[in-house]
Amino acid sequence: MSDMVRAAVQVGPRQIELREFPRPQIGPDDGLLRVEANGICGSDVEIFKGHMGGGRTDAFIPGHEPMGIIEEIGDRAAERWGVQPGDRVALEVIVPCRACKNCLTGRYQSCRNRTIGHGVTGIDTAPSLYGGFAEHLYLTPNAVLHKIDKTIPAEIAVMFNPLGAGVRWAAHLGEIGLGDTVVVLGAGQRGIGAVIAAKAAGAGTVVITGLAADQHKLALAREFGADHTIVVGEGGEDVVERVREITDGEMADVVLELTPMAAGPLTDALLAARHGGTVVLAGLKGNREIPLRTDLIINRALTVKGAFGVDFAGQEAAIALIESGRYPLEKLHTHTYGLEDTALAIETLAGEVPGEDPVHVSVHPNLSA
Ligand SMILES: [Zn+2]
Ligand SMILES: [Zn+2]
Repeated sequence: MSDMVRAAVQVGPRQIELREFPRPQIGPDDGLLRVEANGICGSDVEIFKGHMGGGRTDAFIPGHEPMGIIEEIGDRAAERWGVQPGDRVALEVIVPCRACKNCLTGRYQSCRNRTIGHGVTGIDTAPSLYGGFAEHLYLTPNAVLHKIDKTIPAEIAVMFNPLGAGVRWAAHLGEIGLGDTVVVLGAGQRGIGAVIAAKAAGAGTVVITGLAADQHKLALAREFGADHTIVVGEGGEDVVERVREITDGEMADVVLELTPMAAGPLTDALLAARHGGTVVLAGLKGNREIPLRTDLIINRALTVKGAFGVDFAGQEAAIALIESGRYPLEKLHTHTYGLEDTALAIETLAGEVPGEDPVHVSVHPNLSA
């Protein structure tokens, strides 16, 4: 057992280098995770480019969707978390204080006493190993863990995060009911996750949009239950008109807006929803001001919700979907990389690697070890 831990450290925009850190000493209240896999999402791309995090210049280990095997665990931590060495767990980004009013009333994502975030905290905070792009991750006493069946291949089990987003945004925030018509704008891994969750929640007709370059993702979405796919963008179709045709003018009960950066889909989302429908917004627009027809929200009596990440309930339900074995999730996984290829993995998901059609990409830090 090496007493050093290798990690991919981001030292600046598009600059990731491998460094070694001392293996942390574990006490009664904490533990050490051997990271099996860490999924990559659109936020990783923005963080990699230096667009997120307010232009931070300090060094940190990215990777905020870590999953692995508990290698060491203190007695009290084992009891509190209900885990033992050898168990597989997924981690949430947020490490709440578990004591404040927000935490105690179930709003732990709003905890204001947070000092640690997985994939966020800098290496200057001991013992540095807070990100998923590392051989080991330090399990700090307040970390939020979810157990996952370890017989499931790592690249599938690590979909707990994109599927969790699908569950949280479509089923929970969208409050999808039996037979509901759902429109998902954006065919990334989370868009497809939303299709899976919508169908699992009992949706009737599910429609998903994507760019011409997303044809492989739209084909996958159909395999996972989407009834209609709409190609948008240059030369593409008019989303609102297509939804009108598909629904015979009824429009959608729930619309999810998941597209990155583009402003147009926001208006499409409002126009595609029925009177009294729900619109869930989860596509970040780079902090820009976006033109918004607020009259549509008023006159259609729409409920518009902002989706902030995945919460505990969403995560648990997604893990249940994965463990059910009912979905051919392996079809979503396109790329596996080792720790030394962390930057390449992020560039792949970003679509910067010619000839690659990524959907779900993950880094497996102990792959070559
Ligand atoms: Zn993410
Ligand atoms: Zn708190």
